[in-house]
Amino acid sequence: MKKFSLKSPLADIRALYDAFDAPLTALDCGQMCALHNPSGKPFCCDICHAVPAAYQQEWNFLREKTDLWHSWRGDECKAGADAEKLRDETPDNMVLLACLGPQACQRMYRALSCRQFPFFPYVTADFRFVGLAFEWEFAPVCWVIQNPDAVTDVYRQQFVALHDRLFALEQEIFESYAIHSARMREVYAAHRRRILLLHRAGGWRLISPGSGRMAMMRGGKCVAPGSWTKSR
Ligand code: SF4
Ligand code: SF4
Repeated sequence: MKKFSLKSPLADIRALYDAFDAPLTALDCGQMCALHNPSGKPFCCDICHAVPAAYQQEWNFLREKTDLWHSWRGDECKAGADAEKLRDETPDNMVLLACLGPQACQRMYRALSCRQFPFFPYVTADFRFVGLAFEWEFAPVCWVIQNPDAVTDVYRQQFVALHDRLFALEQEIFESYAIHSARMREVYAAHRRRILLLHRAGGWRLISPGSGRMAMMRGGKCVAPGSWTKSR
């Protein structure tokens, strides 16, 4: 019998990380995408392409345990970034961080956002967490988004279990993903595209952003509405 806990997963960051540690794909997807990045780094680990965000509780834990992370200053990438915009877009309960880079990654101290990427929990307009959607801004560069069938079942299961627990006790986090999902629907509706979803129970679905209607599909390529970048 499983022990029932009333504590939020954020109350024990080590346990949270250990419960969400399965490989995203059987092969190292970083090797696949790094080939196409002039810096030679996987895109999601390149501070010039993605600035990681972590919950304040994670940062409290990480800063004590490891030298892997520091507070993002904004000067880590020579090309610079719109620091004000990124900080404005970051929820109040999160902080922007930078790590030592993929050559010095300490896997056990990867942030939750490293483990989630390139997914986020998709919340429907009627507030149901139905599965995993892609961070669409990274579709042009992320090998996993372009090869969605490579995602392992165990990764999906851990992702769903962790977020079910998180959402049960952290309403604010659930709401932030509901807002992010609504934003995705707006973008896809504007481009007349359907959203590709990895359903929480497994298998792929296509969601009409306007009606919310969900259709089954068997694998396939993700169609992104354009190319942007951002923070994660
Ligand atoms: S998740 Fe995507 S961007 Fe990150 S290492 Fe894998 S393929 Fe590259
Ligand atoms: S901690 Fe590791 S996985 Fe996370 S961004 Fe840095 S190099 Fe990538």
